[in-house]
Amino acid sequence: MKNFDAIIIGTGQAGPPLAARFSDAGRTVAIIERHKFGGTCVNTGCIPTKTMVASAYAAHVARRGAEYGFCVNDTVRVDMKRVKARKDAVSGRSNKGIEEWLLGLKNCTVLRGHARFQSPNTVVVNDEALQAEKIFINVGGRAAVPEMPGIHDVPFLNNSSMMEVDFLPKHLVIVGGSYIGLEFGQMYRRFGSEITIVEMGTRLIGREDEDVSHAVREILEAEGIQIRLNAKCISLAKRDDGVAVHVDCEEGPPDALGTHVLLAVGRIPNTNDLDLDKAGVATDHRGYIMVDDQLQTNVPGIWALGDCNGRGAFTHTSYNDYEIVADNLFNANHRRLSDRIQAYALYIDPPLGRCGMTEAEIRKSGRHALIAKHPMSRVSRAYEKGETQGFMKICVDAETKQILGAAILGVGGDEVIHVLLDVMYAKAPYTVIQRAMHIHPTVAEYLPTVLSKLETFA
Ligand SMILES: Cc1cc2nc3c(=O)[nH]c(=O)nc-3n(C[C@H](O)[C@H](O)[C@H](O)COP(=O)(O)OP(=O)(O)OC[C@H]3O[C@@H](n4cnc5c(N)ncnc54)[C@H](O)[C@@H]3O)c2cc1C
Repeated sequence: MKNFDAIIIGTGQAGPPLAARFSDAGRTVAIIERHKFGGTCVNTGCIPTKTMVASAYAAHVARRGAEYGFCVNDTVRVDMKRVKARKDAVSGRSNKGIEEWLLGLKNCTVLRGHARFQSPNTVVVNDEALQAEKIFINVGGRAAVPEMPGIHDVPFLNNSSMMEVDFLPKHLVIVGGSYIGLEFGQMYRRFGSEITIVEMGTRLIGREDEDVSHAVREILEAEGIQIRLNAKCISLAKRDDGVAVHVDCEEGPPDALGTHVLLAVGRIPNTNDLDLDKAGVATDHRGYIMVDDQLQTNVPGIWALGDCNGRGAFTHTSYNDYEIVADNLFNANHRRLSDRIQAYALYIDPPLGRCGMTEAEIRKSGRHALIAKHPMSRVSRAYEKGETQGFMKICVDAETKQILGAAILGVGGDEVIHVLLDVMYAKAPYTVIQRAMHIHPTVAEYLPTVLSKLETFA
């Protein structure tokens, strides 16, 4: 039995910085990884997909060359082997960086293998038992495979296997019209594939407001992406030249025929093979580890951070979990999960930056609120760039003047949203933004203009 001050299971977005904190504080820590250092974001999530989004954007702009005053002699042809090589290089750099960082930490033991609990303070990896007073679970999640008819009869791709694709699928059918499906859809359309997105719901990205869903659909359809909504009963069948995705939609033909299928229908936590029962750690009905406001599980001395606790599904939420836990443990702070403001981006082009509540949530809450909306076609920076799709929408509380939520779908939306997010954290009134001088020409300089149009919810 080896003893440590702390054991960390998984090297996602929370585990490595936490290991560094223990190490810096002169405490012994063991960190265990069963697959690739850096987890989802680094190897099969944010970093590789955003690298590929950048390749797709470059191809898209090249095709629009004439609009900008240059010509590309031949038609734009994407070399998928080179796109993948670029992606592998960027992703590999981060993966290697994390491994080297951990191996270089003074008081840190890095173990490769699958970890399981043996008791509330004992973890076994490669038949070796490790013991610690504090154990941190950062095991992340994986792509869900829903039990739809025919699923076991056809080959299908997910976000992980997509990373190995070095050819252009002729026609990619994507099951799932949410964040991951839309990013892959637009990216592969720009690489040159035919794309059909099949979504069970009545609209894409169903958690967003209807006007956002609608505008995103328009953006994707304008690029020739086929969208099939209301696909209530999806089933899959093998065909000589690919796969038929049967969609029981209200409109359109009953089958979407593709050469390849990508499943993007949600994620599940990697908690089923941890022997959590031996430690007595409680999960909810979907397998997410239940945590309190400080990320502690029901078992004293065991914390759960990142996607596996179901309290966030992003790199920044996992990293923020680390910050909360580390601040509370090392600085005796009282940081709480419930102080976090919801924020994320959808990386289609143009991107959607989101913070706080949606308009629908605000309406449902019944509070007295004001709303303003402004099209990107009336933002001069967007116009100069020739990228005028989308709009900005901001909602504020009528009494406190604090920002309740915003959606910026447009060029730079993923960056501009932070102006609003930071003012929300400061609990300052929106009028602060109106009094600040902003830089011209930017998208952000229009925020005061948008705010000047605030009116009571209709
Ligand atoms: C296609 C895609 C695109 C995305 N894009 C974005 C984006 O743009 N922005 C964003 O914020 N988020 C994005 N995400 C989400 C983001 O990747 C995750 O939220 C983030 O990686 C979660 O990290 P984590 O710390 O929970 O764990 P993970 O990164 O999932 O890491 C968990 C690690 O634990 C290891 N592990 C699991 N079980 C064990 C075990 N028993 N023993 C040892 N090791 C174990 C795993 O091998 C893995 O390395 C994307 C996700 C996907 C799938």
